[in-house]
Amino acid sequence: MKQRTFTMLKPDAVKRRLTGEILARFEKRGLKIVAAKTLMISDDLAKTHYGEHSDKPFFGDLISYITSGPVFAMVLEGDDVISMVRKMVGATNPKEAAVGTIRGDYAIDTGRNIVHASDSEESAEREINLFFDESEFCDYELPDEDIIYEEP
Ligand code: UDP
Repeated sequence: MKQRTFTMLKPDAVKRRLTGEILARFEKRGLKIVAAKTLMISDDLAKTHYGEHSDKPFFGDLISYITSGPVFAMVLEGDDVISMVRKMVGATNPKEAAVGTIRGDYAIDTGRNIVHASDSEESAEREINLFFDESEFCDYELPDEDIIYEEP
């Protein structure tokens, strides 16, 4: 079943010029980019996005980190895309992330783990609505979907 997920390359990924390389992983997997943009996250948006962590000791550092430079935010579409992208992203602590995952291949510290991906249908819906308006979505067909999917 086609799903959408919110994925964001954090400021360290953008500053390290990893945007294209990471985006290529999602594209090569067969996922469809239906919305994308570069933006500076405001303090308010950062605090809302990471609201569930507001009582954690790392919250202040997390807000400083995510607002420290541009992020590349996107909405990806595909079959079971939420869990698929979480697997591609890897464990929160990059030192524990499997080699072959994005964090396992490009990051070292939990506080600099380069990428965010929604962890459930509820958070995907919430995060997509937080970052994107309806007018920012592109409605189009990928010509190779009947090759990638057994049943497009
Ligand atoms: N984080 C951190 N220190 C911690 C745990 C988390 O700096 O001890 C940051 C890290 O950037 C992480 C984000 O907070 O990606 C959100 O944490 P969560 O547990 O939701 O992990 P994720 O879903 O991003 O893997």
